[in-house]
Amino acid sequence: MATTNVQTFTTGEVAKHNTKDDCWVIIDGKVYDVTDFIEMHPAGAQIILDLGGQDVTDQFLAFHRMSVFDKYAPQLFKGLVRGATSTFESKEKRSTQLSRVPYAEPSYWQGFKSPYYNESHTNFRLAVRRFIAKEIDDAEIDTYVKSGDAPEKDLFLKMGRAGILAANLGPGKHLLEYKGPLPSGIKAKDFDYFHEMILHDEFYRIGAPGLSDGLACGLIIGLPPVIKFGSKELQKRIVPQCLSGEKRICLAITEPQAGSDVANVQCRAVKSPCGKYYTVTGTKKWITNGCQSDYFSCAVRTGKKVFRCDK
Ligand SMILES: Cc1cc2nc3c(=O)[nH]c(=O)nc-3n(C[C@H](O)[C@H](O)[C@H](O)COP(=O)(O)OP(=O)(O)OC[C@H]3O[C@@H](n4cnc5c(N)ncnc54)[C@H](O)[C@@H]3O)c2cc1C
Repeated sequence: MATTNVQTFTTGEVAKHNTKDDCWVIIDGKVYDVTDFIEMHPAGAQIILDLGGQDVTDQFLAFHRMSVFDKYAPQLFKGLVRGATSTFESKEKRSTQLSRVPYAEPSYWQGFKSPYYNESHTNFRLAVRRFIAKEIDDAEIDTYVKSGDAPEKDLFLKMGRAGILAANLGPGKHLLEYKGPLPSGIKAKDFDYFHEMILHDEFYRIGAPGLSDGLACGLIIGLPPVIKFGSKELQKRIVPQCLSGEKRICLAITEPQAGSDVANVQCRAVKSPCGKYYTVTGTKKWITNGCQSDYFSCAVRTGKKVFRCDK
């Protein structure tokens, strides 16, 4: 919020605005005109009217997360309290640092000992957090959540360039062969399962699981079968495309008639007479990232006989 060329008020002047038709409050040394907001207040109008014209910083902090402040403060900002200083950290600073709010971070980052984490995990967490704060802003998250649209390709490419897509698959062969950078500059050989967990933790911290799923879930479950079972040619072609964000992949196992009972999969793949291709026929359902994927790791039936247990 720009604070140059803004009006300033004394606390006495603010105090006069204390009715339902003209209501101001002070939060963190700044004046907010909440007149139009009163009726929208989820906890009711009266609680604001009782405090109209006053400094409500303590009351505000007692009942609201900072995201509420971030959302409404810019719209309701009226001016500054003359001579007052602000103590709230900027949103940018808050969203790229470790929180001091109790239980807002895993306990290691609040001063507890852990045999699992070291400095590399802290650096990694901060690097991922900064990436998210920079590349996925709140307005964008809101738009995705409301529209249900798939994230833009540009975001996947940025995740690819930052090494976030590669890191999403955890430690292993793919990472040792991966040539790009990883967040915080960690080396592939030092990357462990706790780094991977931190990455998932940070991506779900944005509070929009649908968006987080949309960004990497398909890759996380769709690419490992290629890495584990794909031919060298397939791996060489597909793995770099998916880890760079150029292409998207998903895992297609479930069908309308086959869920937990994977052995009941009906989707069929028939080899062409030349032996080069398979023709796949069938229906898949509930496939995460299925609508936006370029590649599908599909569970298909290729043999004729099916093993069945007697009922
Ligand atoms: C958010 C989400 C994302 C998904 N993403 C994917 C994806 O990317 N790719 C994909 O292939 N699939 C995906 N699925 C589908 C998911 O894997 C299936 O839902 C799952 O395999 C269960 O199948 P079902 O829903 O048909 O349930 P069912 O198999 O019909 O099971 C229903 C209930 O019966 C129980 N049950 C089933 N069999 C037995 C048994 N033999 N003994 C005792 N209890 C049993 C189950 O535990 C469950 O409680 C996704 C599902 C969800 C919800």
